[in-house]
Amino acid sequence: MMSDVLEELRGSLADGQIITDPDVVDGFRRDQTPALEPGEPLCVVVARGTADVAATLAWAQRHGVPVVPRGGGTGLAGGAASTDGCVVLSTARMSEICEIDADNEIAVAQAGVLNADLDRAAAAHGLMYAPDPSSYEISTIGGNLATNAGGLRCVKYGVTRDSVLGLEVVLAGGRILRTGRRTMKGVAGYDLTSLFVGSEGTLGVITSATLRLRPRPPAYPRTVAAAFASFAAAARAVTAIIAARVKPSLLELMDRATLRAIDDWKHTGFGDDTQALLIAQDDSDTAHAGAERMRQLCVEHGATMAEVSASEDESRQLLDLRRLSYPAIERLGLALVEDVCVPRTLLPDMVARIEQAAQRHGVFIATVAHAGDGNLHPVFVFERGLREVPGPVWSAADEVFRAALEMGGTLTGEHGVGVIKRRWLADELGPESMAVHQAIKKALDPAGILNPGKAI
Ligand SMILES: Cc1cc2nc3c(=O)[nH]c(=O)nc-3n(C[C@H](O)[C@H](O)[C@H](O)COP(=O)(O)OP(=O)(O)OC[C@H]3O[C@@H](n4cnc5c(N)ncnc54)[C@H](O)[C@@H]3O)c2cc1C
Repeated sequence: MMSDVLEELRGSLADGQIITDPDVVDGFRRDQTPALEPGEPLCVVVARGTADVAATLAWAQRHGVPVVPRGGGTGLAGGAASTDGCVVLSTARMSEICEIDADNEIAVAQAGVLNADLDRAAAAHGLMYAPDPSSYEISTIGGNLATNAGGLRCVKYGVTRDSVLGLEVVLAGGRILRTGRRTMKGVAGYDLTSLFVGSEGTLGVITSATLRLRPRPPAYPRTVAAAFASFAAAARAVTAIIAARVKPSLLELMDRATLRAIDDWKHTGFGDDTQALLIAQDDSDTAHAGAERMRQLCVEHGATMAEVSASEDESRQLLDLRRLSYPAIERLGLALVEDVCVPRTLLPDMVARIEQAAQRHGVFIATVAHAGDGNLHPVFVFERGLREVPGPVWSAADEVFRAALEMGGTLTGEHGVGVIKRRWLADELGPESMAVHQAIKKALDPAGILNPGKAI
């Protein structure tokens, strides 16, 4: 009887840690991926420490119960969506920042710490936690690690993987593994830390991490905003900025559809002649000179308007334009945020292929790009209330994914494969790599109960 099995788990956890109330459980079934019908979980376990995670995984292995690890539930690929009969294992309450070692520029944080909370704690020591997904106020360190999240500052400081030194992970069956170290360098053994980063909850449950902090930039960043009459011209300016070795700390592009969505909402005054807006920042000691150089390069590459922020407030307002993109697009309908990444010089070609796919399949797509990384988010918008992504949207997405692969790019620069991109994965990885992935999965999760049906 399943109720007896659940009683056994109750014996290992404190009161209130197992949730079976269907209304509450319902709130843990989905992440932020639209039009995805999740399964019915058996229960939710709210872990308060590593021992709870270990007890849950030992119990799950004994009874063959699938486990869906969950942080903030902000994922955009369905990675934390529940499956039938699973335990949703939430690490969101494991939210202690255990240590900030300012001299060594290291933090130790539990998996449920919110990204922005860690950055604020680091700021008190003149340091920062660099990876900054736009979901930084609502996503957790565990989720960021499991998806290898990127963010706006990645162009200068790298993705989550570049800020991790070590992990504590509970393996299937409940054994506790510690990977990596506290030192800036170290090569003893296989790089198990990297194996778990980006593994989307399929190889183990991350319970805490030793993370690298960096000196906080001395002053507020200078921001450049530049308007262009075509996306291709804006993309050429991006290539020129990178080639000039200016080292922007942020380099973002928004297309016409995105600007129109923002304009309809906030009346920003971008006319039809603005087909793309580039937002760039320099946060270095020589920020003003760097920003001015980027402004000049934009002008040289055909910008119809290019300005450098004159104050901290103005800098923030210009960046806010970028932060408004998703909420503005979401006002138009359900938004499937896709995530291809191509070599940076191919940005104009990729955008042209996205536009062709939109036209061919009659789908509305607005594109926002972490241009400095070649990472594009074509956002496919469709009717609210649908329980499945419509066929033409998938056909257009299929075309976009295949175009990215043809260009030597990838299906996902930062959001992960989750459930929604599994059918394309083999096309990117090829048979040998798929076989190695399956072998690793089998070695670490022989019963196949860790986030089944996700990522590989
Ligand atoms: C408004 C918005 C903006 C976003 N912007 C960005 C962005 O700029 N860059 C970016 O990369 N992403 C972005 N995302 C996507 C999302 O926020 C990231 O993927 C984030 O890293 C997910 O963290 P989470 O805590 O919400 O994880 P969840 O959504 O709960 O889980 C994500 C995946 O990680 C696994 N997981 C969660 N916790 C653990 C754990 N402790 N151990 C093992 N596996 C675990 C889950 O099983 C799932 O597969 C955005 C999402 C939204 C809604």
